Amino acid sequence: LTAAEEDVLDEIEEEDIDFLRLQFTDILGTVKNVSVPARQAEKAFTEGIYFDGSSIEGFVRIQESDMRLKPDPDTFAVLPWQNREDGASARMICDVIDTSTGEPFEGDPRRVLKNALERADDLGYTVNAAPEPEFFLFEEDEEGRATTKTGDHGGYFDLAPKDLASDVRRDIIYGLEDMGFEVEASHHEVAKGQHEINFEYDDALTTADNVGTFRTVVRAIAAQHDLHATFMPKPIPRINGSGMHTHLSLFEDGENAFHDGDDEFDLSETAHSFIAGILEHAPAITAISNPTVNSYKRLVPGYEAPVYVAWSDRNRSALIRKPAARVPAASRVEARFPDPSCNPYLALAALIHAGLDGIKRDLDCPDPVRENIYEFDEAKREEYGIETLPTNLGEAVEALEEDEVIYSALGEHVGPKFVEAKEQEFEDYLVDVSEWELDRYLETF
Ligand code: GLN
Ligand code: MG
Ligand code: MG
Ligand code: MG
Repeated sequence: LTAAEEDVLDEIEEEDIDFLRLQFTDILGTVKNVSVPARQAEKAFTEGIYFDGSSIEGFVRIQESDMRLKPDPDTFAVLPWQNREDGASARMICDVIDTSTGEPFEGDPRRVLKNALERADDLGYTVNAAPEPEFFLFEEDEEGRATTKTGDHGGYFDLAPKDLASDVRRDIIYGLEDMGFEVEASHHEVAKGQHEINFEYDDALTTADNVGTFRTVVRAIAAQHDLHATFMPKPIPRINGSGMHTHLSLFEDGENAFHDGDDEFDLSETAHSFIAGILEHAPAITAISNPTVNSYKRLVPGYEAPVYVAWSDRNRSALIRKPAARVPAASRVEARFPDPSCNPYLALAALIHAGLDGIKRDLDCPDPVRENIYEFDEAKREEYGIETLPTNLGEAVEALEEDEVIYSALGEHVGPKFVEAKEQEFEDYLVDVSEWELDRYLETF
């Protein structure tokens, strides 16, 4: 056993842990659990835990279904919302191993992100990332099913007593801190019942792990208050949706490679090319960072979500923004299009590959756009050379298939599976008849 693995065994002993939840994610980003008695921890480290991969979305066919979980000891955390009397539980996030080769399974989203980070490493970079997930807290009905009622009349940065959910948010923050999160800020968002909690940046892999944990903790603690937390991008029409702005920076030899104090925007050539890479690949990335039918109901003008492919050092209608940095080490770019329904491993992998492609090809970055792009008409957008993001999931998946860099970022296993799952999802949506259609046509015709 490694020293980190030994530490985990000690902690299991000290904290009196009965059960271990071994976690991994499917290609859609859903966190999966295999629960084992804590006394199997040592075996989990030495031999791994076997499971049937054929029942996991996008993993393998029946005839080749044996997979092995290899827990990452750095991700050990005691689950704070579990009733201790029922036996305390802890979790570890796992890498998935293909038992036929003994190698990492290429269909594991965590592997896909590790491949992107290895690519960055080849070019001399490490990657830091910080997400800003937004979510809604909704009331449950008598049967315990989610509604879209909020019972909360707060608005952006409002304080109690208007912000009735602030108690819940406080409990969520305690839960996150118990799981080892450094919560930086939390506030009521623009819409009724909408919240945002920011946690500290970390290396990109840890951040992707954290997003999965974050969603789990938020849902579990909201449920204790009889509320349903949703990361659905646009639960209420004509009201701000939920984004997951993603801050990114590259470090080289311990220095922030995005900072240049002599530049008008304090951004290095490397950062400019990284931005240019994301802008160029944005239509394909959206299929991954905004992967649901509903995601495209958020990406419409007027709700602080991006629609046009441009960057800005000020305006929040742009796809990428350069936030003000207090110190050089904090120089970074903020991708504003991802939403919290994405698989964080795949979305980060796509953003990183896009940015690195910009650096490798030394792409020129267009000028930032400082005006409100929502107000531009087509002629003005054409004059500025500003393109539009895909307007629906179908278009986004087509853009993904046509973009060699982003499609191959997913790897040979995940790429085709992801496209197939998303094409099906979009086709299913196209043949459905919505509430809106019934309201509009049922009695008119
Ligand atoms: N909710 C907005 C979005 O969809 C963002 C609002 C904000 O953080 N200022 O992206
Ligand atoms: Mg924010
Ligand atoms: Mg926000
Ligand atoms: Mg932001």
